[in-house]
Amino acid sequence: MKPLIVANWKMNPTTLKGAKLLFNSIKRGVKNVKNVKVVICPPFVYLPLLGGGLALGAQNVFWENKGVFTGEISPTMLKDLGCQYVIIGHSERRRYFGEIDEVINKKIKAAISAGLNPILCVGETAEEREKGNTGKALKRQLVSALKNVSSSRLRVSGLVIAYEPIWAIGSGKPCSPDEAMGAGIFLRKCLAGLYGRGVSEKISIIYGGSVSAKNAASYITQACLQGLLVGGASLEPKEFVKIVKAAVGLVDGCS
Ligand code: PEP
Repeated sequence: MKPLIVANWKMNPTTLKGAKLLFNSIKRGVKNVKNVKVVICPPFVYLPLLGGGLALGAQNVFWENKGVFTGEISPTMLKDLGCQYVIIGHSERRRYFGEIDEVINKKIKAAISAGLNPILCVGETAEEREKGNTGKALKRQLVSALKNVSSSRLRVSGLVIAYEPIWAIGSGKPCSPDEAMGAGIFLRKCLAGLYGRGVSEKISIIYGGSVSAKNAASYITQACLQGLLVGGASLEPKEFVKIVKAAVGLVDGCS
């Protein structure tokens, strides 16, 4: 599997001009990079305005395709704009917008139906980790997000699981590669339990949480994961390009 490097710009930059500048400098920086899949997830409003050259993803999506849902954006709208990916269940959406597991499950199913590759975020809080409940939290989030998603749908879905320990996001305290590896192995075991080993092995599991150019490679080579979800560092083009370049030629050490 090619490493997958996803940029989550969150609610940044604050102007279209800034978004175009950022997009174009990343595009220039990764122009000659081969064998790494780079996906940029800007705010919705910039999606149709950035121009081509890099794969696009959204940071959220609604679960219906059209109708009386003021303020929402549908999976078919994203698909129509050329989006390939959509982040679903980010911890900030769970925390600030009350997205519960049932909502995330609806969004996952809707994204798959529209032909978008969902990037499902799962991760434990600091408290869950301290109490030794990481596995329980991850399993609950994974199983409920994939409820009633059949094996045949999953196989064509391009689903990506992003392991994002909540305590590591934006904290400058990244998870150690060993701990990320443990979570990755656990998540893959859960996927194998749900869908069988063959299907589970085809799903990319990526890491997110205070990724930098310094630690980027370790999550692929040491933690045996298939890529990265990058928040803060994706707003700094030089740093982000270094992260992408750090993944060149890497394949996870477990395969
Ligand atoms: C994120 O929010 O998905 C994330 C990984 O953020 P950061 O890289 O800033 O920790």
